[in-house]
Amino acid sequence: MKAYKSYLFDLDGTIYHGNKAISSAIQFLNQLELKNIPYGFVTNNSTQTPDQVAKKLTNLGVKVEARQVVTSSIATAAYVRKHYRDVSVFVIGEVGLQEAFSQYRQDSIRPNLVVVGLDRKITHDKMSVAARCIVNGATFIATNPDRMITQENGLVCGNGAIAQAIAYAANTEPVVIGKPSAEILHTAVNQLGFNALETVFVGDNYETDILAGIRAKMDTIHVQTGVTVSCQSFDEQPTYSIPSLINWSLL
Ligand SMILES: [Mg+2]
Repeated sequence: MKAYKSYLFDLDGTIYHGNKAISSAIQFLNQLELKNIPYGFVTNNSTQTPDQVAKKLTNLGVKVEARQVVTSSIATAAYVRKHYRDVSVFVIGEVGLQEAFSQYRQDSIRPNLVVVGLDRKITHDKMSVAARCIVNGATFIATNPDRMITQENGLVCGNGAIAQAIAYAANTEPVVIGKPSAEILHTAVNQLGFNALETVFVGDNYETDILAGIRAKMDTIHVQTGVTVSCQSFDEQPTYSIPSLINWSLL
């Protein structure tokens, strides 16, 4: 074990399961708070605003402010700010993404960028506009590549399914910002003022969390409380793999 200066956490499967807190994780966060060790949260969920995510965490007993939450929508807006000046956008997505891009000029005819996040009211019309704009030269950016996500009533299509449908139509692959891309972790580290070399990223899913951490050249802790039961079959290993955060002591 190493004494990290700051911690980043995935949410579902790491801090909670749906609406149920994972008690070992909440206790761990409370310890970080007591010891004044900074932490933040990184989620591929593009539909919610950082405020909404922070409220949920507060209700589960975590002390957190909205600025400590980096959603894939926030990371996508940060990526666009970093790489483009004065661009117009066509956005497909829910409130989390609409709010992140509210300062940008919206254009459904000849936008510079097409930005696609999960929209649970997606229509053939919206997909057609997006694909047409991409064919006409717009750069295609997807907030996250999740194939399916878990909701109260079971698995539903994630943004990866929507983005891939548009990619197929336009015959163009998107730039992807959410995990397993390193981009969302770079944004989180920057936004929170952390040093990546002294920060560890904690997550339950090898193919999103751990891969993103490896690509961002950060240390990772795999917690066996969610999607990936064991990492043993993978070529590149997390820095640590532990049953739960009970097994991690702060030095
Ligand atoms: Mg997770």
